[in-house]
Amino acid sequence: MENIYDVLIIGGGPGGMTAGIYAKRAGLNVAIIEKGMPGGAIVNTPEVSNYTGFTKIDGFNLATKMFEHVNSLDIPVIFEEVKTLKLSKDIKEVICYENTYETRSVILAFGASVRKLNVEGEQKLLGKGVSYCATCDGALYKGENVALVGGGNTALEDALYLSNLAKKVYLIHRRDEFRGEEYLSKQVRDKENIELVLNSVVSRVSGENKIESIEVTNKETKETQTLIVDGLFVCIGRGPDTDMIEDDIKKDASGYIVTDEYMRTNIEGVFAIGDIRNTPLRQIVTACSDGAIAATKAFEYVLRARKK
Ligand code: NAP
Repeated sequence: MENIYDVLIIGGGPGGMTAGIYAKRAGLNVAIIEKGMPGGAIVNTPEVSNYTGFTKIDGFNLATKMFEHVNSLDIPVIFEEVKTLKLSKDIKEVICYENTYETRSVILAFGASVRKLNVEGEQKLLGKGVSYCATCDGALYKGENVALVGGGNTALEDALYLSNLAKKVYLIHRRDEFRGEEYLSKQVRDKENIELVLNSVVSRVSGENKIESIEVTNKETKETQTLIVDGLFVCIGRGPDTDMIEDDIKKDASGYIVTDEYMRTNIEGVFAIGDIRNTPLRQIVTACSDGAIAATKAFEYVLRARKK
C-alpha cells in the first residue's frame, strides 16, 4: 500500500519532538525527519535552567529525555537530510537526498542556522581557530586566550563556559548592553578572566594556518585594536535557512516564516514552529508550545483533507 503520511515533521528539536508526541497521541500517521542528532540547538547548550520542571539540566540530557519520550510512543524518526520541499499541492513532497516522502501536512521545525560575521579571514580560518560552537570546541583552548563575539544568552553562557577552560576570554559585543538575561550578564561581569570589549565589532581575522590575532574596531571612537588570540568563537545567533522550500511561503523582513496563532503558514496544510517562525520569543518552552498547537491544528486539517 502506498504510504502517505498524515504529517511529516521536518526537524527533531524540542518543538518537532513535541509536535510528534501530540500528533501520534492524536492517532495520526506521523514521522519526524532529522538530519543530525535529535534535540536541535539544545544539544550544544551547556546548561538549561528555564525549562519548567528542570531546575538545571544540560541541553544534551534534556534532548535525550525528549527523544526517549518520542521513542516510547514508537514515533518513526527518519534520519535523512531534506533537499527540497514541494508544499503547495494537497499531497506534499518531502524530497530527501536518499528518498522522497509524501504527506498531507507538514510541520516545519528545522530551526535556524548559525550567523556569520562575514569579515575577512573568518571563512579561511574556520576550524583553524574560528568556531561557532564553544561547547564543541572550547576544550581545545585550555589555558589559552580566546575571543567570543555576541551579546545574547548563548554568548553569555558560552563566555562563562570558556572562562572555566581558557586563560582569558575577550567578550566582544556591538553594543554596551547585553541582549541576554541579567543573571547571566552579572555572572559574566563578575568573572575575573572575562574582559568586556563593548561597542565593538571584529573587523578582521588574521593568521596563516591558524588564527593569530583579530582586529577589533570600536564603533564610537572608530579606534582599532589588535587582540592576540588562539581562538575566536562567533555566537551571534542563528537565522532561518528556508532555501529548500520551493514554494512561495510568506516570510518577514528577516526571513522568518510568518504564521498565525495556530502556527499555520500561508500554504494550506503547512505549519511552522519554533525558531524558524516569526515568534516574539525563541526558547525551548515556546518551541514545545508551538509544536503542540501545530500538531493539534494539523490533526484537524488532516481530518478534512482525508475526506477530499
Ligand atoms: P540572540 O539572542 O539573537 O543574540 C544574538 C547576539 O548577537 C545579539 O547580542 C546581537 O547583538 C549579536 N549579533 C547579531 N548579529 C551580529 C553581527 N552581525 N555582528 C555582531 N553581533 C551580532 O541569539 P542567541 O544568543 O544565540 O539566542 C537565541 C535564542 O535562544 C534567544 O531567544 C535566547 O534567549 C535563547 N537562548 C536561551 C538560553 C537559555 O535560556 N538558557 C541559552 C541560549 C539561547 P544585538 O543585541 O545588538 O542585536
